Amino acid sequence: MSEHLIPIYNKLPITFSHGQGIWLYDSKGRKYLDALSGIGVCALGHNHPEITKAITAQAQKLLQVPNTYYTQAQSKLADKLCQLTELDGAYFANSGAEANEAAIKIALKFGTSKGYTKPKIIVMEGGFHGRSLGVWSGSCDQTESQFGPLLDSYLRVPFNQIEPIKNLADNQCHEIVAVLLEPVFGKGGLLPAEIDYLKTLRHICNENDWLLIFDEVQSGVGRTGKLFAYQYANIKPDIITTAKALGNGIPIGAYIASQKAIGNFQTNDHGSTQGGNPFACAIGLRVLEILEQENLYENAKKVGAYLQEKLTNALSTFSLFDKVQGKGLMIGIKLHQAPKNAVTVGLENGIVFNHAGKNIIRLLPPYIITEADADLIVAKLMKCFPHFS
Ligand code: PLP
Repeated sequence: MSEHLIPIYNKLPITFSHGQGIWLYDSKGRKYLDALSGIGVCALGHNHPEITKAITAQAQKLLQVPNTYYTQAQSKLADKLCQLTELDGAYFANSGAEANEAAIKIALKFGTSKGYTKPKIIVMEGGFHGRSLGVWSGSCDQTESQFGPLLDSYLRVPFNQIEPIKNLADNQCHEIVAVLLEPVFGKGGLLPAEIDYLKTLRHICNENDWLLIFDEVQSGVGRTGKLFAYQYANIKPDIITTAKALGNGIPIGAYIASQKAIGNFQTNDHGSTQGGNPFACAIGLRVLEILEQENLYENAKKVGAYLQEKLTNALSTFSLFDKVQGKGLMIGIKLHQAPKNAVTVGLENGIVFNHAGKNIIRLLPPYIITEADADLIVAKLMKCFPHFS
């Protein structure tokens, strides 16, 4: 522990020293079931042998070159993501916020290319897209800022409600260019968008020549049982942003986009020195291969459903418990009121999770979990619950 870390985070008094599979170990030798995966990042678990091997191999080969050159790893990852999504191009960044920042620049330029002077992006109330100023302006209902003027490019509507979006389309009061949303609300409560809602959104975007942008930073790369959560709706977006699980702990972010979206985006409209470096891309590629080879999409879907059902059955004995919501291994336990010291109680019982909002406990376990591991998560939470109120 250091006193020299700027207290941007409320740190808990534990120093993690290493991890193995679904387990984390602290410097005092205690072990914790990691039901959070570094907030949705270490989706293949800790110290996955194939990832460790890929890290070593790429470190011995090439870490970084300027983005004005090709590397095999970057090209292969772009090809793979475009092949899997049937979209036309990929760009790589270092984080989710950066991927979204790039996506909103694409959307805004899509508007200015049409001659719009105040292009607007529709976002969801309570949605979250990152903490850099551009995307922060469209996140978490930011209306006032302690950081000076925010980006004035967003219109907010309630999540999962189509009428407010139809009204905006009908009124034609704004120069709307895109709709940006998480197909499963992450920080906003682990709430999936209805399939019909997503299909209708696609239709409205087509009718109005708006771009449909899915932020799959948290829900993407297998977490819900498909590569991307929107794929349950059988539609094709114009832009997908992703990050977290793509690097399994090695920082990487990406957007994948249609030709229509990127058509007006030109050289030097965006960029990043380290984004898309061959090291991060090689690991991203290996993550996607392992998801297929180890059948982890199916495991996330199957064990996710099992865990959600077990949690519902076991926790409904507590009056604090409201319901379980989510998709696959993106799970929220909704409570009737905020639990007391939930994360600390969890740590005392050897399990790591966090909150999404005040009343929701967030579980994002690694995709390698078995049904027996899921039973252990339920048993540990059963021990925690009596201490939450
Ligand atoms: N978008 C969503 C849906 C997220 O959940 C997050 C992070 O939690 C972000 C964007 C920001 O990603 P990053 O923290 O990698 O910048």
